[in-house]
Amino acid sequence: MKARLIREAGFGTRAVHAGQEPDRTTGAIVPPVYFTSTYVQEAPGIHQGHEYGRVSNPTRSALETNLAALEGADHCSAFSSGMAAADAILKALRPGDHLVVSADIYGGNYLLLNEVYRHFGIQVDFADMTDMAAAEEAIRPNSKLIWVESPSNPLMRIVDIGRICELAHGHRMDVVVDNTFATPYLQRPLQLGADLVLHSTTKYLGGHSDVIGGAVCTNREDWAERLAYQVKCTGAVPGPLDCYLVLRGLKTLHVRMNRHCGNASRIAAFLASHPKVGRVAYPGLATDSGHRLASRQMRDYGGMMSFQLANDRVDLALKVLSGTRIFALAESLGGVESLIGHPASMTHAAIPAEVRRERGLSDSLIRLSVGIEEPEDLIKDLDRALDAV
Ligand code: PLP
Repeated sequence: MKARLIREAGFGTRAVHAGQEPDRTTGAIVPPVYFTSTYVQEAPGIHQGHEYGRVSNPTRSALETNLAALEGADHCSAFSSGMAAADAILKALRPGDHLVVSADIYGGNYLLLNEVYRHFGIQVDFADMTDMAAAEEAIRPNSKLIWVESPSNPLMRIVDIGRICELAHGHRMDVVVDNTFATPYLQRPLQLGADLVLHSTTKYLGGHSDVIGGAVCTNREDWAERLAYQVKCTGAVPGPLDCYLVLRGLKTLHVRMNRHCGNASRIAAFLASHPKVGRVAYPGLATDSGHRLASRQMRDYGGMMSFQLANDRVDLALKVLSGTRIFALAESLGGVESLIGHPASMTHAAIPAEVRRERGLSDSLIRLSVGIEEPEDLIKDLDRALDAV
């Protein structure tokens, strides 16, 4: 009864309550973290739903229930990292299968698809998914999946998820959307037709830069079975404490995202009007090529952006990168603290330089993950770093 009430409630109520039942034995409002590798059975095969810790754990199940409720999914499988989640999807493919992938994606996913899985006979083509004709042209008779990020990392390109899903389904293909940048608070890909939603829970979902994790959500029974099979057979599962940390983060996702978005939109406006700054990629700017689509597809525009200097000098961009004091120079994103990063040498270094340039990812690009500090302090910090170059 209560579970149904929560499932039908608004986002914030689901974030706080889904998968959370007070502990039956003590009344503790926060359910315990279950540190156990196995479960006692009454008789062989007679148990309370859990057999062995690799296959399932009550803290992991609570996280999966919560995230599924936020994504509007029937199923969620949690993994030990975003990469492990991506890996579990790809293991459902067979040698000779082909994938069409967004040209602009996280460097780790590029490496996994292009290097690791290519050696197992999986074929990959990259396409600009903001161009429907280019996406369609990349499809082959053996294509099984379309893989998109929107907003993309790091160029913040917006893909029309609904149209990509129509295209894919017309060719009997499934669609994976990496929803790490947007989170379910800003964008619900399953509602737009996607078959699978991928997350690095390390980022906004955990939200505090203190845990590595991943997850896949789906409404497709066949995919849920394949993912559960991967959990059981290959076991890249998160530990109970990691699950607890992500679950705790999820409870404040909506509150944090509102602040991330508010801060980011002020910073994007500041950068766009700064004489030393050139192109700013942030879908919240009316001048951004993805603005109209993002306004339709997302609740708000997120906390991520990237920009180049007006003179596009790499040496000066590097100076800005090490010149901020509140924005920390670090990999990752989505935590409460603001981060500044250099995709060419950090998150996207795995992509060969000529491929990066071909895809518009220049060596002078600076990426920001805007945190939830006071926006005036963040703007002052960037202003100071820009003044010094
Ligand atoms: N997807 C995106 C968009 C990412 O930015 C990242 C990591 O930065 C990943 C997936 C991989 O996640 P993880 O680092 O948790 O393995």
